[in-house]
Amino acid sequence: MGNVSRVCSAFLQNGKLNLIYMLISLKEMLKNAYTNKYAVGAFNCLSLENVIGAIKAAEELRSPIIIQLAEVQFPCAPIELMAPLYLNAAKAATVPVAVHLDHGESMETCIHAMRLGFGSVMYDGASLPFAENVRITREVVRIAKAFGVDVEAELGKVGNADNNENKKDPDIYTGVQESLLFIQRTGIDALAIAIGNKHGHYIATPQLNIARLTEIHEACEMPLVLHGGTGTSEEDFKACIHNGICKINVATAIQLGVTNHLRQYLQSNANPDYIEMKEEVVKATKEVVAYHIKLFESEGRF
Ligand SMILES: [Zn+2]
Repeated sequence: MGNVSRVCSAFLQNGKLNLIYMLISLKEMLKNAYTNKYAVGAFNCLSLENVIGAIKAAEELRSPIIIQLAEVQFPCAPIELMAPLYLNAAKAATVPVAVHLDHGESMETCIHAMRLGFGSVMYDGASLPFAENVRITREVVRIAKAFGVDVEAELGKVGNADNNENKKDPDIYTGVQESLLFIQRTGIDALAIAIGNKHGHYIATPQLNIARLTEIHEACEMPLVLHGGTGTSEEDFKACIHNGICKINVATAIQLGVTNHLRQYLQSNANPDYIEMKEEVVKATKEVVAYHIKLFESEGRF
């Protein structure tokens, strides 16, 4: 069990990450972000072109980066096929690249990802009652420790942008005391919180509860994660990364960027070429990832 090459030695020097093996643990990566008040972008990569584009952007900007795959994406990007791609790309990169399972819906999926070599997993029990979320998350952490894998978990419900459930209900936000209890009882390495952020395509720009974020940050003193990174205003992103958000998930923005690039390519080319289209996907992914790296202030950290 375990993957020795993943247990890399990372250390801090002038606020920059230095490490021997490029496959870095999420925990080490986020510790540096937490100390130096920036966030690492976590980009959902569904193809070879997405992986190449994302890592190119990170290398050019000398930024750490997280590439991740969510369980809901397995039907179009099977994890067994994506794992070697992610891991080999991460090892070959000249910047720290963490390989992460996003939104594991069961303990079994998390263990499957650990066996395939993922350096960290997110177990998502946010829709469960608090005690049940604690129980399963703690079990995932216990198993993950044996693999040398780090764990992100979620508390409070991140909604979907296309439905307006509980819009004005303050209870949709993650609580301060429950966050503290959850961290103490589970032993997680990073906590995803709900502060008005939503997954998917936005109709209107979401309003984030920065006051609640600040309270959670001060009480918990641990790397926090923001899901639903598409559509949030630049001002809110800045407030987040200066108040404990160390990992920001970006999925939909890549899909939108790629779709727009391909649409333009097809409109301006009477004889479209598949290889050129693949290159367009790499270029589009790189553009979206570079934009977020700069926004999250992780540029030049390696
Ligand atoms: Zn998410």
